[in-house]
Amino acid sequence: MRTRVLAVIVATISLAAVIGVIGQRAAKPKTTVSASAARFASDEVFSGEKIVKSEQAWKRILTPEAFYVLRKKGTERAFTGRLTDNKKHGVYACGACGLHLFSSENKFDSGTGWPSFYQVIHKENVEEEVDNSLGETRTEVLCKRCGSHLGHVFDDGPEPTGLRYCINSVALKFILKN
Ligand code: FE
Repeated sequence: MRTRVLAVIVATISLAAVIGVIGQRAAKPKTTVSASAARFASDEVFSGEKIVKSEQAWKRILTPEAFYVLRKKGTERAFTGRLTDNKKHGVYACGACGLHLFSSENKFDSGTGWPSFYQVIHKENVEEEVDNSLGETRTEVLCKRCGSHLGHVFDDGPEPTGLRYCINSVALKFILKN
């Protein structure tokens, strides 16, 4: 009789242990994408969350030429950029943060020596600021997500917009699409 009671107790404890293990497995937290990764998951449309890095941090991840143009508002010499004559089908993303900015569909040959586009992919991906440097008033174009300088926009472009986004090659990353 005593052995039987003991066997029942052991069986009960074993069953409880098994249920406990199953319960733990079920309760194991699911792998979730961290908040910061989720925030920047889409490079297609600016989510509203800016990317802020120190000058030193940008310097570490950008080439000296890209740093000079993107973070110091520099301009590459005309006809020296590797994307000026690029005619491949794809997307031109911000060279600093990867946000999609221009499409090959809207690129045209302006003859200026810089990649030129008549529109941006999404208006909300860029920011415009008045630039009074060099003794003239121009409209500077910046990446809305990371604040990097891209180039300028002028109103002497082709139809249908009449705009000419004059952008530095080094400020862009080309993503080939087939
Ligand atoms: Fe950017």
